[in-house]
Amino acid sequence: MTNKELEEKLFLKRVSSWISYTEEEISKAFEFCEGYKKYIDYSKTERLCVTYSEKMLIENGFKDIYSFTTLKTGDKFYKKIKGRALFAGIVGQKADQFNIIGAHVDSPRLDLKPNPLFQDSDLALLKTHYYGGVKKYQWVNQPLAIHGVVYTTDNREIEISIGEKDDEPKFIIPDLLIHLSQEQLKKESAVAVEAEQLNLIVGSIPVNDKEIKEQVKFTVLKYLYDNYNFTEEDFNSADICVTPAGKAMDIGLDRGLIAAYGQDDRICAYPAIEVIKNLETPSKTAIVFLSDKEEVGSAGDTGADSNILLNLTIKYAELAGIKTDPHLILENSMAISSDVTCGVNPNFKSVHELSNAAILGKGVSIAKYTGARGKSGAHDSGADFVAYIRTLAEKSNTSIQTATMGRIDLGGGGTIAKYLSKYGMNVIDAGPALLGMHSPYEVASKVDIYSCYKLYKAFIS
Ligand code: MN
Ligand code: MN
Repeated sequence: MTNKELEEKLFLKRVSSWISYTEEEISKAFEFCEGYKKYIDYSKTERLCVTYSEKMLIENGFKDIYSFTTLKTGDKFYKKIKGRALFAGIVGQKADQFNIIGAHVDSPRLDLKPNPLFQDSDLALLKTHYYGGVKKYQWVNQPLAIHGVVYTTDNREIEISIGEKDDEPKFIIPDLLIHLSQEQLKKESAVAVEAEQLNLIVGSIPVNDKEIKEQVKFTVLKYLYDNYNFTEEDFNSADICVTPAGKAMDIGLDRGLIAAYGQDDRICAYPAIEVIKNLETPSKTAIVFLSDKEEVGSAGDTGADSNILLNLTIKYAELAGIKTDPHLILENSMAISSDVTCGVNPNFKSVHELSNAAILGKGVSIAKYTGARGKSGAHDSGADFVAYIRTLAEKSNTSIQTATMGRIDLGGGGTIAKYLSKYGMNVIDAGPALLGMHSPYEVASKVDIYSCYKLYKAFIS
């Protein structure tokens, strides 16, 4: 063997998937992303994402787990948790082990405060409380929409969604004009726009009635009462989110990228649902888990740190007649924690350690470990399981790359991996790399989204 041949054999190579995939696969990738854009346009909140995903499952023969009296090989079931988290499953030939793909469907955003509405300077505004990790200055001067649900004491559930359609009004948080920004521009960017300044304009026309003290607030409340039949106090029992308004868009002359809000992590939820909805009876039971609250630490009744996966397993074992303790079913299972990572941003290259950074278009990013500083709070996958995933990728001709979250000690992040692995199962993080993660418009490569579909399919089949 010549040195040149030996070099070819020994050195790590990561080729762009745009080059390594066949033309047929590239056109499949473009087609796949058309479905994805529809999914993400609809799924501005975890509730909407769960609703859309549930619809996809029902259309493909999945039934609510509570409608089964027994579960048999090949049965397709789902379980929705309070409208904010979702499980989908297909009973495999080996029914006492799961292959799990877990993504999260909440994204950073602004929530309305419980008492949000006020009038100031002849404008009506809504107070917000940011959810998850956001750069607050990115949320001003953006066209915004509101989505959510209001529950009343007379037992009504009122859905509200305003600002996505072309003919609907939008909302905005105005930034300070440059002309008077000398003081603001001296501030650190974390506080240049402060949390309590993230107030959303929702109205400006006063009612023409001297008897009314807050005349603009009055017109807003009257509009909500006339159109949605709720009052100011009903905001106390509402989950209403403020998100960027508008649709996913192709980026670049070649249309190779997508910019959209909420790609972290609905970009992983979509391929996961696509894989399971088309799946033939798998060898082991296949589970897709769409969790909530990841952006605030996976806590709460719909987060991955709750018992909802264990509860699903208990119900599943009961229906499938499996005697194994549900904890042991989970211990003997394995999972992909399908979540995004950061891609190299040529405008801010210094934050990356380039030998261990993900490049857009080079495949699914495999994060052996997450965490911050000395792997604090990390989930660190066993090397044997990493090898298993590499083997799956090789066999299914799927592009993968390894990725860490930037230079050590600059920051970091976590995923749901550590909450899945607490049962003792093998887990690894795998998903597309994004630019501008957590911003109102995150950017991803279409071919990486398709690579996720391929890897998840290979894993769960
Ligand atoms: Mn994420
Ligand atoms: Mn995130």
